[in-house]
Amino acid sequence: MQGLMQDWPLLVSTILDHARINHPEREVVTRTVEGPIHRYTYRDLHGRAKRCAKALGRLGMRQGDVVATLGWNTHRHMECWYGIMGSGAVCHTLNPRLFLDQLNYIVNHAEDRFLLLDVSFVPIAEALQATCPTIKGYVILTDRAHLPETKLKNALCYEDLLAAEDESFAWVNVDERSAAGLCYTSGTTGNPKGVVYSHRSNVLHALAVNNADMLGLRSVDAIMPIVPMFHANAWATVFAAPMSGAKLVMPGGKLDGESVHQLLEDEAVTCTAAVPTVWLGLLQYLETQNKRLTTLQRVVVGGAACPGIVMEKFEEKYGVLVLHGWGMTEMSPLGTVSSLKPNQAKLSRAEQMKYKLKQGRAPYTVEMKIADDAGKELPRDGKTFGHLLVRGPAISKAYFKGEGGQILDQDGFFDTGDVATLDEEGFMQITDRAKDVIKSGGEWISSIEIENLAVGHPGVAEAAVIGLPHPKWDERPLLVVVKKPGAEVGKAEILSFLDGKIAKWWMPDDVVFATEIPHTATGKIQKRDLRERFKDHKLPGVV
Ligand code: ADP
Repeated sequence: MQGLMQDWPLLVSTILDHARINHPEREVVTRTVEGPIHRYTYRDLHGRAKRCAKALGRLGMRQGDVVATLGWNTHRHMECWYGIMGSGAVCHTLNPRLFLDQLNYIVNHAEDRFLLLDVSFVPIAEALQATCPTIKGYVILTDRAHLPETKLKNALCYEDLLAAEDESFAWVNVDERSAAGLCYTSGTTGNPKGVVYSHRSNVLHALAVNNADMLGLRSVDAIMPIVPMFHANAWATVFAAPMSGAKLVMPGGKLDGESVHQLLEDEAVTCTAAVPTVWLGLLQYLETQNKRLTTLQRVVVGGAACPGIVMEKFEEKYGVLVLHGWGMTEMSPLGTVSSLKPNQAKLSRAEQMKYKLKQGRAPYTVEMKIADDAGKELPRDGKTFGHLLVRGPAISKAYFKGEGGQILDQDGFFDTGDVATLDEEGFMQITDRAKDVIKSGGEWISSIEIENLAVGHPGVAEAAVIGLPHPKWDERPLLVVVKKPGAEVGKAEILSFLDGKIAKWWMPDDVVFATEIPHTATGKIQKRDLRERFKDHKLPGVV
């Protein structure tokens, strides 16, 4: 017997329609790239997304075309997303932090037809222009008054294009399985690979993210995604916010502690999301300037492991709940959040922290398992670690144009490239990325765990642990430390700080001080570069 329910296609445009009908007056506030604060409502966003769709259609954008954006989190970038996706075209977010040759590869691989960009990224587009012949036109996301001088051919002014249109546009009724978004992985090994989101996967993922144990956005919330839209859909907040009617606060390109704090307070933000480096910056600002957080209720930390000190400071000093999240571009991107369960609520604060610092539990729509090198499933005992595999309706089944070949195992699971443990409560903890784990005497050492303890030392701004070859143990850990400005701290002090917090055989063989640690385009420590930089470093006792 067939079910007799309607086939209501899960299209991204339905999310904005919902906000328009049910939350028309809810605000969308942006710190614009040009400087001033801009505010309007979901009703305005909806209308302008339709004008944008009409304007791009007039320029020649067709269903199935790939249209690139190079933009910060702003209202205009949101309009473009919904305008492109609502036309049945594919919105391709480019990460401006990538090297030019990577961007060049990505634009050509994706065959981008148009590039919509912020004024601040005009120099990047100019540098790409000669080698990216698929781009037929550039739209600069500003008004006439702020339009810069440019060598870009066919450069148009976004506000002029919108002014020439009205809102009478009907969203294109595509198949819910058709492509809506394209985002390339950072490509720390080999060329970047394209992850293709569908309308259906975006809608299902936003529903999952709005679970109460995930981000759980509500109409009373004000969400500020600091994580950029070019970093895996701003962790789905750009869909989850209009779906829930939460006020949306877009921080533009100013992500320093002072700017972030000002917007959090001025706009009464209740929930915000970013990578740990942003939070370290904000916490430092709060402490040095003696500031408070008066409206913020929860902060999502993800993209890299949350250091214990970040969680402790937010929760104990500022009274803000920390949600530690894990995910990846291929997972739309959220896979887990470390919300406590009722039996953990009874534990001591120290015991709770152990759970909260794990990467967390999966929502409905994400299945996880761990397996050994041969693919055999390993026990969920919180101790055994293995390759972390995932399955679900918002997880990649292949990369764009088949790059990388077959990426699922025989049961349809995708290998995340992370090594992790799973416990009986469903909590997952990342040990390391498979390629960064340190193999010492046949056992594995978690670089992440040592790094997160080291940044708990008051003189340490940032820490990275890499494995160096060792004649007896195969590999041994080297700790690279960036000191806080003015801090006086030496090797012996750091090692005694770690003593007792980790197993003896995990203790780094050496500590070196550096002025900076390299990062990838999504804010992660660039371990490959560090291994190269320290490849000739002699560990004590090694001749
Ligand atoms: P994103 O763009 O969301 O950062 P990427 O695809 O660039 O995703 O990187 C995903 C990888 O980032 C994961 O496979 C994992 O190694 C790392 N990662 C993300 N969140 C965490 C976390 N909370 N703890 C540890 N590692 C994390």
